[in-house]
Amino acid sequence: MTDRKRILTFLSIATVLALAVGYGVGVNMASEDQAIAVELSPVKANPDRDRYFPGTEDLAPDEMRVVALGTGMPSARPKQAAACFLVELGNGDKFLFDIGSGSHERIAAMKIPYDYLDKVFIGHLHVDHYGDLPTFWLGGTVMNRLVPLRVWGPNGSTPELGTTAALEHMKQMYVWDIGTRSGVIDFRGGELQVNEFPFDGINAVIYDENGVVIRSIPAIHGLDGAVSFILEWNGYKFVYGSDTYPNTWYIEHAKGADIAIHECFLPPTLLVEKQGFSPLEGLTVGTQGHTSPEQFGKVMAMVEPRLAVGYHFYNDFDIEPEVRDRVRKTYDGELSLAVDYMVWNVTRDGIRVRMAVKDEEVWPSPAIREKISPDFRDAITFSEFTLSGREAFPEVVGPIYEEINEIYGTDFKPGL
Ligand SMILES: [Zn+2]
Ligand SMILES: [Zn+2]
Repeated sequence: MTDRKRILTFLSIATVLALAVGYGVGVNMASEDQAIAVELSPVKANPDRDRYFPGTEDLAPDEMRVVALGTGMPSARPKQAAACFLVELGNGDKFLFDIGSGSHERIAAMKIPYDYLDKVFIGHLHVDHYGDLPTFWLGGTVMNRLVPLRVWGPNGSTPELGTTAALEHMKQMYVWDIGTRSGVIDFRGGELQVNEFPFDGINAVIYDENGVVIRSIPAIHGLDGAVSFILEWNGYKFVYGSDTYPNTWYIEHAKGADIAIHECFLPPTLLVEKQGFSPLEGLTVGTQGHTSPEQFGKVMAMVEPRLAVGYHFYNDFDIEPEVRDRVRKTYDGELSLAVDYMVWNVTRDGIRVRMAVKDEEVWPSPAIREKISPDFRDAITFSEFTLSGREAFPEVVGPIYEEINEIYGTDFKPGL
């Protein structure tokens, strides 16, 4: 045995003995101050739990937090909604990237007042990337959003394939819904501001406010009119791919990213086995329409981000290991294979990865602006026909009005 080995062996034995003595004797050996530190049945909160509880943590002024609020496939399921990522910056700004089917309830779980969630960037117009925009837009108006909703999205090869046309039709689709709000609630949050930009801009600035710059690069997916986004603030760089086949723009402009998110689709074998695709469909969808795990890894090996994030597959206990193995064929850097409620806190020192704990019984946050009473004359009234079916139950409804009038010193009377 060499001297060095002898010393190491001695140190190992000494450590084991010290631990054994420490555990065996416990707090009896410690001084009074140390005894408090190792108390086995603490009555104080432990702030070091390795979970993120929304609404309970400050964000440092120079910190960025990213939360996965949709990481799955077009049909939302309890475990995974379709694409949606929230970016929160230490300056107070918040951005949503894609707002796919089922993601709205996850957004609500973040317990953020809706006035602060007024900026949505849509990478392309597949339903799994903006299917929850209507519910977030109109649902938000009854969840105390009192500012317009601002939406950024690409144009298409013809006007009707662009974001402006899509959202104009969305407004038409909800004319009845909007009609029910008119003259009934403060509907300022129902205003929709659409910012369409050219899909073929390469690293083109589409947003520049409050020290935050967001650029777009073209993506290759579906039809002309798909993009990826690059957000830069405070020296940090966040890249969101939405959906795309591997492309030169992403590889060039995502370089240096702190977090680079890119689709990482199910391998063709699993598309055939688990989703019933034919072998050719599996290959075409899995490697030509989307990006397979091996292709994802290749992209990330070229981008070299601080952290690569793959998403857009059913991330289950029996699927993740295979996807990870396939990514590892081509990429050996830092990697998260995202699932809903995964949280990344980005600082200069490192990127902390945790899971958020969701409260199933979330209520909307109170309005952060004073509500303006609507002009009730704007309300659209029922026809005589519908009114003829009323059962007013004055003996039931009267006391409810009296209860409120007594509490708030008002003199309201039933409208119908
Ligand atoms: Zn898509
Ligand atoms: Zn998609």
